[in-house]
Amino acid sequence: MGHMSFNQKGTASITYDAIVVGSGISGGFAAMELCKRGHKTLMLERGRMVKHGEYPTANLDPWELKNQNVVTSEEVAAHYYKQNRLSWWVHEDNKHWIAKDDEYPYDEVERFDWIRGHHVGGRSIMWGRHCYRWSDIDFEANLKDGIAVDWPIRYKDIEPWYDYAETFVGVSGQKEGLKQVPDGKFLPPMELNCAEQFFREEVAKKYPKRVITPGRVANLTEYKPDVHLGTRGQCQTRDRCWRGCPLGGYFSSLSATIPVAAETGNLTLRPDSVVTEIMFDTKTRKATGVRVKDTQTGEMLEFFARIIFCNASTIGTTAILLNSRSNEFPDGLGNSSGELGHNIMDHHYGMGAWATLPGFEDKYYKGRKPLGFYIPRFRNIDEASRRKDYIRGFGYQGRAARYSGGNGEDIGAEFKDSIFKPGPYQIGMTCFGELLPYHDNKMYLNFDKKDKYGLPIITFDAKLRENEMALRIDGVACAAEMLEAAGCINITTSNNATAVGAAIHEMGTARMGRDPKTSVLNKWNQIHDVQNIFITDGSCMTSSATQNPSITYMALTARAVDYAHKQLGLGEL
Ligand SMILES: Cc1cc2nc3c(=O)[nH]c(=O)nc-3n(C[C@H](O)[C@H](O)[C@H](O)COP(=O)(O)OP(=O)(O)OC[C@H]3O[C@@H](n4cnc5c(N)ncnc54)[C@H](O)[C@@H]3O)c2cc1C
Repeated sequence: MGHMSFNQKGTASITYDAIVVGSGISGGFAAMELCKRGHKTLMLERGRMVKHGEYPTANLDPWELKNQNVVTSEEVAAHYYKQNRLSWWVHEDNKHWIAKDDEYPYDEVERFDWIRGHHVGGRSIMWGRHCYRWSDIDFEANLKDGIAVDWPIRYKDIEPWYDYAETFVGVSGQKEGLKQVPDGKFLPPMELNCAEQFFREEVAKKYPKRVITPGRVANLTEYKPDVHLGTRGQCQTRDRCWRGCPLGGYFSSLSATIPVAAETGNLTLRPDSVVTEIMFDTKTRKATGVRVKDTQTGEMLEFFARIIFCNASTIGTTAILLNSRSNEFPDGLGNSSGELGHNIMDHHYGMGAWATLPGFEDKYYKGRKPLGFYIPRFRNIDEASRRKDYIRGFGYQGRAARYSGGNGEDIGAEFKDSIFKPGPYQIGMTCFGELLPYHDNKMYLNFDKKDKYGLPIITFDAKLRENEMALRIDGVACAAEMLEAAGCINITTSNNATAVGAAIHEMGTARMGRDPKTSVLNKWNQIHDVQNIFITDGSCMTSSATQNPSITYMALTARAVDYAHKQLGLGEL
């Protein structure tokens, strides 16, 4: 692990069995699986080196953070003018994990919130850790609705890999027996608090199909040293996960996959290495390796391997392929279908409801639970729940908590008094809606405009359309009626459509499919046109479902590495 010096004169020292581009959630998994199977693996990461434990704000208390954790408007204007359009996002305690807009610019035809960080570990450091399985309701959806293309896999193809990924990751959760979000290999759930439990029971009385379950999250409620390999430990419910956890209480590339990969002795991790393109050999019809710019020295380097895993994130991977142009592939490597960069999806949100729940004023709880509840999709999952006004569905993430009484405007003694008095329980929930794969929702490169690394600027052109807008109205109405069912008062709803990207679940720009004419990847995540390139980040997704997607990327990654390994053994790659 760490910087290696490379002998540029001989190819032996720059040739590997496998190259993994990106060190985030999916790249970490790819590298671990490859290394465990004995493949000498080079992991390339465009951002700086970060090692587990190097989390500068992890142990700071609120009063130790500058400006009460608020980033000044001058700094936002200079560096985070797009990243901070989600006003909840950039703070003093996490800004070092967020890509600066002036350093990493992009263009928009329609607003697109491309939220990310460039450093070893990628967004595995800051992610919300919610993990939900997809089901055949999702994998069959495009076929049944007659839109886009059919997924080339079904739940049974990925099920054992969900088992495998969840077991290693460590996902806490409660079994509910729901077909739309199948149960997994769970660690003990983080219990609902009294208000959340009451909410669950009251909603079940009126709406038996709406299940309020503890969020399923990659936090170790039970640490098993022989299973949760890496540098991990029991979650101490500090609720500071997004700063990085020095205890290894949740799954990240830094706490889990990278240390396991490094332990094998097969990993070479090279930070500060931006992959600009993939090299293709017309004779063998295979990729030979990657071109890299060292961001510290400015040097252009080449590295070679038998197989390449692209895990630079949905947008990052697609940008590399679109930039890999040749006579054979003038519109980007593996783009004979013309679908590369199209069908961008995300979940759309900015809709939900919150309210006061009376009746629990004498109840309190200890600890800082790093999650709340989840309400799986209940629309369009069977004939009884079929809607006429839109297809697909939505789920909710929410929580109930007792907030202090202060109104935010008090000062001095009055303020101190008010914050010592706990206010009533409030319940809030945000709806995550499915976005359909539209060919017209796309990204492309502007080859006439380059960033400071010499990369063409990405332009986004994607928006919510009719189906999403109809779904949103119902999503908000259902949130309000559930709060009402539980006897809440002061119910407030919101429906402010967010830009694509805002849910930070970008997907779909190199989709899987059965037909090379209409999709980029086959059922093993191989590029149809170039079989020794595998793409297992979110760009491979054929539809977006309603569930947070990262555990599915991990399962698909482990499955693809297993396949690649077997194909290499057979001499097929
Ligand atoms: C605040 C927040 C909350 C989230 N909550 C959840 C959640 O609850 N559940 C869930 O499932 N998902 C969640 N996500 C989304 C989740 O983080 C992503 O889906 C996941 O990280 C994607 O994994 P990835 O490997 O594709 O990309 P990333 O984790 O983004 O990693 C990609 C890596 O590739 C590197 N890279 C990019 N381009 C290049 C290049 N050209 N050369 C070399 N390296 C490159 C990047 O620097 C980065 O390190 C959340 C994200 C955020 C930010």
